[in-house]
Amino acid sequence: MKLKAHAKINLTLGIKGLRPDGYHEVEMVMQSVELHDCLEFSPIPEGIEIITDSPDIPPGSDNLVHRAAALLMEYTGHPGGIRIALKKNIPVAAGLAGGSTDAAAALKGLNEIWELKLTKAELFRLGEKLGADVPFCLLGGTALARGKGEELIPLPSPKALGVLLVKPTFGVSTAEAYRKYDELPPGPQPDTDGMLGALRTGDWDGLCAGLRNVLERATAAMHPEVPEIKKLLLESGAGGALMSGSGPTVFGLFADFPGAREAASGLELPGCGILVTRTI
Ligand code: ATP
Repeated sequence: MKLKAHAKINLTLGIKGLRPDGYHEVEMVMQSVELHDCLEFSPIPEGIEIITDSPDIPPGSDNLVHRAAALLMEYTGHPGGIRIALKKNIPVAAGLAGGSTDAAAALKGLNEIWELKLTKAELFRLGEKLGADVPFCLLGGTALARGKGEELIPLPSPKALGVLLVKPTFGVSTAEAYRKYDELPPGPQPDTDGMLGALRTGDWDGLCAGLRNVLERATAAMHPEVPEIKKLLLESGAGGALMSGSGPTVFGLFADFPGAREAASGLELPGCGILVTRTI
């Protein structure tokens, strides 16, 4: 069995405060994109074996795919026995939920292959233990995420928009971006209601104008490349541009896929990874 694990971008990322458990209370509009990793599942006599083509992620028990399989075995008592070949296309530590989406696909795939018959609600609860973005990755599409990211309300998806992703050479740890955010004086929060209205009415200008991520300033304070890339994306014709998640990937939004592809061909950003995809 093969499954696609799609990346996400943030159309908004707001922080409402600090929770007693130390996590930040977030309010985010999340959007899946076509860019995906691939997981291929093959039963083996015992154990969990992860094979990956990426040198940038842990190959063993620290891999989120391995952790997802181990968690399912612990929760259900299933004896295991699976080899998962993971082909990475999503840049790592990029703000695109690469690890979370692999974990979500592993939960879904193993629930089927091992015939565990877990409900969606059970998968969501298990996903939450693996990472705050895993529940959204299980859901996919467009959604409002609150709490740590696990309280989800599905939203109408915009028609397929072109997305031009620019990933600088360095990665950003999510914890580091939140730490920097806490050090800085508060800045303006996203207008979440405005973004929800733009999605409901299919208002392209409203959607572009509503893009806001409060972590962008924090990551930019450590990496000035982030605002530079954003400026270049806007100059290349993007209707709007924003850093995704804790970064450092910055995306430009285009009314359609060909628009994003054409802008990508004119971009000169030595050392950066440039990927063109679409919203799904
Ligand atoms: P998010 O947007 O959810 O904050 P991210 O895109 O910034 O996530 P990831 O690509 O998920 O970051 O990587 C975060 C960390 O998780 C990295 O340090 C990476 O080594 C580790 N990791 C473990 N398993 C995986 C996996 N299957 N794919 C990617 N990263 C993984």
